[in-house]
Amino acid sequence: MAYTVTLIPGDGTGPELVAAARRVIDATGVNIDWEVHDAGVDIMEKYGTPLPEQVLESIRRNRVALKGPITTPIGTGFRSVNVALRHSLNLYACVRPCKSYPGVRSRYSNVDLVIVRENSEDLYAGVEFDLGTPEARQIMAMSNGKISKDSAISIKPISFEASKKIARHAFEYAIKNGRKKVTAVAKANIMKFTDGLFYRATQEVAQEYAGQIEYDEWLVDAMCMQLVQRPENFDVLVMENLYGDILSDLCAGLVGGLGVAPGANIGDDSAVFEATHGSAPKYKGLNKVNPTAVILSGMLMLRHLGELAAADRLEKAISAIIAEGREVTYDMKPDRNDPTALGTAEMADAIIRKINA
Ligand code: NAD
Repeated sequence: MAYTVTLIPGDGTGPELVAAARRVIDATGVNIDWEVHDAGVDIMEKYGTPLPEQVLESIRRNRVALKGPITTPIGTGFRSVNVALRHSLNLYACVRPCKSYPGVRSRYSNVDLVIVRENSEDLYAGVEFDLGTPEARQIMAMSNGKISKDSAISIKPISFEASKKIARHAFEYAIKNGRKKVTAVAKANIMKFTDGLFYRATQEVAQEYAGQIEYDEWLVDAMCMQLVQRPENFDVLVMENLYGDILSDLCAGLVGGLGVAPGANIGDDSAVFEATHGSAPKYKGLNKVNPTAVILSGMLMLRHLGELAAADRLEKAISAIIAEGREVTYDMKPDRNDPTALGTAEMADAIIRKINA
């Protein structure tokens, strides 16, 4: 069966990374019609926006997209295309698997955990009041002197419905991917209402999966120490937006950094797969940067489509190339100036040869 998938090359190094990933995914033999749509800073002049409506329409129609990174223009009045995309499509779950691949230089081995981050609310809801505004003064007046008069204020909304939804996503992910445990991470000893509500929601969902998936809770500060000391003890971690943002990067660091960290933004109707890293614009057009994270995002997309055998073949090929350490980009070499480092396209060629071997 052929799938139609929206392909967004993005900007900066995005187009060269996405071109490499597309060839590798096609090499698995899964029949995909790629519907290519541009977004990002390079098309702002042509369309007057970095996120034209046809991009969203295409994703709504196809329900699945592979996306390259997109630069957030500074000082132009445009908000982040990435945030706009997640909001417009209600992609409420950000899923970031963090897995050690032998051959990637890292302080840890045997890490295999997944961050499931709520993507729509929390301090990222954009409810902020600047210093000196009437709204900030009104909130100060309600705070019984707990907020000092020279403050700006950000509001942290945590809803029961969104918390249950992200918890259910984490448990369903655990079931579908043969995982054993879901850990909810928050700071409910301090934020008794918001984070307390989050735990109540995750506990309620956990009961539905009792006997199938283990459940426990950690405070976010203790979790950071645990992750640094014993990351192999954790499986699926579910979190609100801010903790999830920070811990995703921490966990990417545990497995070797941004170059190898894939991700997915998932909603009820559609899913957008993309690397954790950004557009690395200083390397644009140099055929230099590492395609691994975008290719692994493609691997997650194949799993999402139910193409498990193809996803396994792709993952096996890329992990073999990384383990051998010869046909990889500069950032995966012990010496970043190693003249034998391959370019983006050539590393993709090597992975394709492995798939076909
Ligand atoms: P970045 O991830 O683009 O780059 C940071 C550094 O990481 C780079 O200088 C490079 O040394 C390294 N790096 C990143 N990707 C790499 C790769 N594939 N191979 C090898 N090295 C790699 O982060 P930034 O510089 O903070 O952001 C650049 C732009 O990307 C910003 O406009 C930011 O808003 C945007 N961004 C977009 C997304 C997204 O599209 N989802 C995510 C993060 C940042």
